[in-house]
Amino acid sequence: MALNWFKKKKHKQEEKTPSDQKIDDTSKTPETKDITDTRASENSEHQKIEKEIPHPPHANDPKTDQAASKKPPGFFKRLKSGLSKTRKILTTDINELFAGKRKIDDELLEELEELLITSDIGVQTTMNLIQSISIKSSEITGPDQLKNILREKILELLKATMKPSQEIVEKPHVIMVIGVNGVGKTTTIGKLASRFSSSGKKVIIAAADTFRAAAIEQLTIWADRAGVDIIKHKEMSDPAAVAYDGLQAAVARNADIVLVDTAGRLHTRKNLMEELKKIKRTLSKKLPGAPHEILLILDATTGQNALSQAELFNNALGVTGIALTKLDGTAKGGIVVSICNALEIPLNYIGVGEKIDDLQEFDPTEFVNALF
Ligand code: GDP
Ligand code: MG
Repeated sequence: MALNWFKKKKHKQEEKTPSDQKIDDTSKTPETKDITDTRASENSEHQKIEKEIPHPPHANDPKTDQAASKKPPGFFKRLKSGLSKTRKILTTDINELFAGKRKIDDELLEELEELLITSDIGVQTTMNLIQSISIKSSEITGPDQLKNILREKILELLKATMKPSQEIVEKPHVIMVIGVNGVGKTTTIGKLASRFSSSGKKVIIAAADTFRAAAIEQLTIWADRAGVDIIKHKEMSDPAAVAYDGLQAAVARNADIVLVDTAGRLHTRKNLMEELKKIKRTLSKKLPGAPHEILLILDATTGQNALSQAELFNNALGVTGIALTKLDGTAKGGIVVSICNALEIPLNYIGVGEKIDDLQEFDPTEFVNALF
């Protein structure tokens, strides 16, 4: 019976959506949604700079160098508490689905579908999960079995798209960081600078978001906290020139890593993409092969919209990896599953807070353990 339900549902779905639709987007079209969505935070950005940024835990401490690549204690706890709203949907609410029932039926599947979509797992991925469950429905007699199957399937999905993180072979290794305004580019650069620096790498940051003086100030604070050099020009200067100078300084100072911050708030999407393309071209002219990574920052709280942003930036620039920020406190933690399932781009890092050690490499098993 459950399988029949699924077939009916799938048929309905195919009628409604073109078969190649990868983005489970429910809001706006990719053309209009990208730049504006996170602007709300722009005005308050200056005050945010004033916020205290804690010192990096390992910076300049040779004793902790070896341990630097390991996760700081408490990260799993923070991940787990950050995902609590999503976990409620996937655990408590699933328990409730079974109230007074001992079997999976069409109504239960329908409600489960709703729960998964609420957590931002995405329509297509949800359909796939429901199909797996409906195939096994005769074996499932309670919520724990259902959760186990979900857990297993989600882990499979996350692992299938995992790629080993990019090895740093060339020196300097250039990472260009992109994304719309407010997603956490500058913060992520600060966190990455601290990670690299505490594992013994010499880092240079290029402040190529020259759109406002406050953006340069904010990055300077992060560079100080992480104990790394920053190359900056005046407000409104040419971002590509800053990127060029950053790379030049890195070569001259024998640095290992260059992190290039970029703007996300230009007035039209076309301008932003053209500016980013110019930065990319300039970097590769100065050093063939650079930028070695183009790291796209996505904000978990924007849900499915993050997927459209990824398509947009990937089409224009070719994204090599994603860092997903603000997983703390969102009920949309399922977006991780969407990103891994719908995009061909590896999820490299996740951010669970504003502090310097709140960014870690993405680990599917750890993530699923925090979720269920
Ligand atoms: P940018 O415009 O892309 O450079 O974004 P910012 O780095 O300035 O970050 C915008 C806001 O998001 C700041 O208030 C950050 O503290 C906050 N932020 C960044 N990453 C995280 C995160 O993982 N969790 C939370 N809760 N806030 C974050
Ligand atoms: Mg910024």
